[in-house]
Amino acid sequence: MAILEILKYPDSRLKKPAKEIEKIDDGIRDLAADLLETMYCAPGIGLAATQVGQPVRVAVVDLFSQEEKRKPMVFINPEILEGEGEELLEEGCLSVPDFTCEVKRHCRITVRARKLDGSPIKIQAEGLLARALQHEIDHLNGILFIDRISPLKRHIYRRKARKAREVQRTTS
Ligand SMILES: [Zn+2]
Repeated sequence: MAILEILKYPDSRLKKPAKEIEKIDDGIRDLAADLLETMYCAPGIGLAATQVGQPVRVAVVDLFSQEEKRKPMVFINPEILEGEGEELLEEGCLSVPDFTCEVKRHCRITVRARKLDGSPIKIQAEGLLARALQHEIDHLNGILFIDRISPLKRHIYRRKARKAREVQRTTS
């Protein structure tokens, strides 16, 4: 297992939709293990392959970051079948450092995916799990949470990020 580098906005690879996985082979199993390790190390509650520059449809989620309570979940080719209700909640992203913003998403969703062993799963999620899954599936479609906020807030973030990059350039 390895800790992978997480791509940061505005890396263009974050905008690229990921490809469907046809065969779950050792490469995919290794990638899922690396994604989990990278997510725990960050730390975060979800990570999509897109965020480490691998354009394939696999995402990992674990709402319990404490080591003794961990409950890792791996989703291969996840897709949202249904969404219900809407709520506005604060979100952040490992690829969008130092910024959080309220994002409107469904409160409850039905997701279909495959597990690492290839077996199909269909889950109904709500609360934080529903939110994390919508966020990660967005990543697999090349969408960042800042694409879902108001243009004004997005503008504020972009300006801040540009400034941070300029500071980095002049100090390194
Ligand atoms: Zn994210």
